[in-house]
Formats: sequence, C-alpha cells, structure tokens
Amino acid sequence: MHFNLMALAVPFFLVFIGWEYLYCKRKGLPFYHFTESVANINTGIAERLSDVFTSLLFFYFFRYLYVHFAFFHLQATWYNWLLLFLLTDLVWYWYHRLAHEINIGWAVHVVHHQSEDFNYTVSARITVLQAAVRSLFWSVLPVAGFPPEMITTLLLVHGLYPFFIHTQTIGRLGWLEYVLVTPSHHRVHHASNERYLDKNYGDVLIIWDKLFGTFCKEDEEPITYGLTKPLGHYSFLWQHFHYILELLHACAAAPNRETRLRILFGKPAAMDPGARVILEKKLLTAPGTASTTRAQRQYILWQTGFSLLLLFLVTLFSAQLSGVQCMLLSGIILVSLVNTGAILEQKKWVFYLEYGRLLLVLAAVGYHGQNSVTLGVVTVMVLLLTIYFRAVQTYYERFLFNSGE
Ligand SMILES: [Zn+2]
Ligand SMILES: [Zn+2]
Repeated sequence: MHFNLMALAVPFFLVFIGWEYLYCKRKGLPFYHFTESVANINTGIAERLSDVFTSLLFFYFFRYLYVHFAFFHLQATWYNWLLLFLLTDLVWYWYHRLAHEINIGWAVHVVHHQSEDFNYTVSARITVLQAAVRSLFWSVLPVAGFPPEMITTLLLVHGLYPFFIHTQTIGRLGWLEYVLVTPSHHRVHHASNERYLDKNYGDVLIIWDKLFGTFCKEDEEPITYGLTKPLGHYSFLWQHFHYILELLHACAAAPNRETRLRILFGKPAAMDPGARVILEKKLLTAPGTASTTRAQRQYILWQTGFSLLLLFLVTLFSAQLSGVQCMLLSGIILVSLVNTGAILEQKKWVFYLEYGRLLLVLAAVGYHGQNSVTLGVVTVMVLLLTIYFRAVQTYYERFLFNSGE
C-alpha cells in the first residue's frame, strides 16, 4: 500500500505549534490569540489540501519543461545541488519581492500578512493561489536544465525552512544573522511599522536582501504585525479574495485599458483604500468581531481538530481514495473552514452551511459503505434532519449564539 508521507507535515507542525503555545502560556507572553491562530491554521489546511492534488501536477509540468525546453541536462552532482539551492533561493527572493511590489502578486500574497499575531501558525497562512503562483516561478529551473526530481526535493527544504522563522520566542542568532534569514529578519518582514515595510524578502539566505538593497535589521522599536490597514474580518472567503475583488473593483471603475494595466501591475501602496470600504458595505453584512463565546470557541476547536484529522487522512491515503471520495472529503474540509470564519463573524446563516456539511458527511458515509444497511441508515438520517430541520436549527442557534430565533 502506498502512503503519501507529506501527511506527516500535519503532526510535525502541530507539535511545534503546541510547544510554542505552551511556552508562551507559561511565560505569560501574549503571542497567541484564538481567532488569529484559528484563521492561520484554517488557511494552511486549505493550502495543504490543494497540495495533495497539485503537487504531482507541478512535478509533471516541470518534467514536461525539462524534456522539451531544457537548455542543458544537468547531473545530480554536489556542485549542481549547491547551484540549485542558490538558484531556488534567488528565485524565491524575486517571487516574494514581486509579490509585494506588484498588485496581482500582492493579491495572492496579502493573506500571509493579514495575521496580527506572529507565531508558528502564521507560517501556515499560505493560500492555494500563492502556492500555485510560486510554483510557476520555479519553472525557470527545469528550463535551465535541473531535473524535476532535484527541484521537488529542494522545494521541500524551501517549504520547511520558513516555518521556523515565524516566531517571537527566538532572539538574535549571532553570526547566523549574517548568512541566514532568521526569526529576527522575518519579524521585520511581517511588521507594518513604516521603516520596516517591504524589507527582508529572503527565504533561507539573507544575502539577496543585502545584495539588492532590501535588508533591514530588527532594532528596539516595538513591532506591529499585520497589514497597514488591518482587515478586521474573519470570513474565510473574504480573507482569501478581498484584494482580488478590490483590484477588480478598481479595474471596473478605470476609464481605459492603460489605467487598468497600471492598476494590475502597479504598487499596492498606490491602491485606493476606499475600494475596500465600498466592497465591505456591499458584501459583508456586519462589522467583523473577534468576541466569541466559550461554546463557540470549543465548537471551533473541535471543528478545526476534525479538519486537521481529515486532512491528515486524505493526504496519507490519497493514492487509495477514489475521485468521488476525495471530492466528498475535501468538500467537508472546505465547508468546515468557511463555517469557522462564519461563526467567528457571528453569522447565523452558518446553520445552512452546517446542514450542507452534514449532508456531505452522510453522502461520504453512504458512498463508503455502499450496502443496503448503510444506505438505509443514511436515508433515515436525511429524512429525520429534514423533518426536524427547524427544531435542530433552534437548538443549534441557542447553543452557539445564545438565542433561539
Ligand atoms: Zn511577504
Ligand atoms: Zn512569513
């Protein structure tokens, strides 16, 4: 039986997050906030889930480029590994820098910077779109002549390393500060303080920032994390798509094609902040809120744990699951992520989403069982849920929102 060992990333990261959380709690350090951590982890769950389906796709894409367009065919010698490491790090620097300096890049990278906390959970805050765009940047490597097997192996290093630089629990690291991107350097990158903006783009090596003039050392000035204009909403979909919508809104209002191109390829700092206010009024029904009840927090914790477990299992058994099973289980995870954001935003329509998720769970159970007893039980459950819809809704809303209407 073939297992996808990428599933181990889930417990691996959780152990470090758990360790950092307990450390902060014991020391009284205010680095973890419930809503921020949940939002960060949920974004990461969606990205890891998409990776199950896209990683092979990108491997074949790299192989196609290597077979048909490579200038050279390089061997896996130690100096080619070293060269590839330096090149991947350089490509990362420019991908990251352009993602900050050009609006269409910022539209997919902005999500990574929304968190107002800075801890290990922030490293998970990578969107599906960002991962795809980043992979497109790697396309230069097979064309240059590096075999796809070498590239995907090094991408694991580039996937793993940034996890450890998202922390406030580690200070300066002596001489390593001159060579590597350290937690101190990356704290500067996530700061919204004026003097720290658009600095320290590197992934593993800090040399590129020094070479291209974007390096800034962390000093005594206290850091404010997050966007210069904080999002203030916990909707999963809004977090992912607000900037894309802001860009579309600005393009729709632009008088001609040149202006539209200037918007898409212009600097994020030049974007009209009024666009977000207009869209918030149009698309979001109420101001976001971070105040949650104990019942909501517990419910969200269970739900996030359930999503993480399901993500682990879908990844581990991805080779054994059928297309329909993959779709049903992924659907349950995605609905759970939107569901959490909706509860954090106190949206009562979340019940309808909840109902949809329950139907998906029953469909997954029915499909997995595929015998008359399971199908009978599933049918009875669906009938009961339909007959007692209002009663279940009242109980659910009373439990989560302390109201019965
Ligand atoms: Zn960034
Ligand atoms: Zn980061």
